[in-house]
Amino acid sequence: MPILPILTFPNSILRKKAKTVNSFDKELKNLIDNMTDTLKHAQGVGLAANQVGVLKRVCIIKHSPEEDYKAYINPEIIKKEGYRYVSEGCLSFPEYNGIVKRSVSVTARYLDESGGKIKINAKELLSQALEHEIDHLNGILFIDHLKEHEKLHINGQDTDAHTHEINLSVNVDNNENKDKFDTKLYTKIGLDDLKLALERADILKEVEGK
Ligand code: ZN
Repeated sequence: MPILPILTFPNSILRKKAKTVNSFDKELKNLIDNMTDTLKHAQGVGLAANQVGVLKRVCIIKHSPEEDYKAYINPEIIKKEGYRYVSEGCLSFPEYNGIVKRSVSVTARYLDESGGKIKINAKELLSQALEHEIDHLNGILFIDHLKEHEKLHINGQDTDAHTHEINLSVNVDNNENKDKFDTKLYTKIGLDDLKLALERADILKEVEGK
C-alpha cells in the first residue's frame, strides 16, 4: 500500500471542511488502507483525510499500543465533559507541539468501515485524538486552540517554560536531525513553508535547548 504524502500547514486544504461519506465502496476502503499505512509509517496517533488531501470525513486513530489502527467515518462529538490542558502535536506540524485545552472525556458517534453505527465514551488520549481529528475534518487546527500565553515549541524541549507571552505559540524541536526529513511523508518545500508560516504568524517559539 502506498504511503501518502502528508500536507503541512499552511496548505489551504487543511482549512477546508471535509464532506460526509455516503458510499462504503472500494475507494473508501483504499483510502482507509492507505491512510492507515501512512499513519503507521509516521508513527502518529491520528490522521485525518484532509491531511492527505482528501476532503472526506474519515480519520484513523491508534491511541494505545494494545489497540489496532481504527477508522472513524463521519465522526461527531455528541457530548463533552470537563476540560484539561494537554501537550499536543500534529503530523501537519512535524516537530512542533504546544499546550491546548481539551475535554476530559467525550461521547462520540461514527460509522465503521462497513457503515455500522457506533457510539463510544472516550477519555485520555482517545478523547483528545477524537477532538483533534474531528477538528481537522472541520478545517480547525490545534494551533487554533493554543493556550493564550503558550507558544509552539519544538518537540523534546521543556514545556514548563510557561512564560506569559502575549501571542499564541508553538515549540520547536532543536534536535540535530532537524535538517533530515522523511521524504516519503514530507517535501522540503512543505517544511520550509511551515516554518515560514509559523514565523509570520508569530506563533513560533524556539525554546532554549536543554
Ligand atoms: Zn493533526
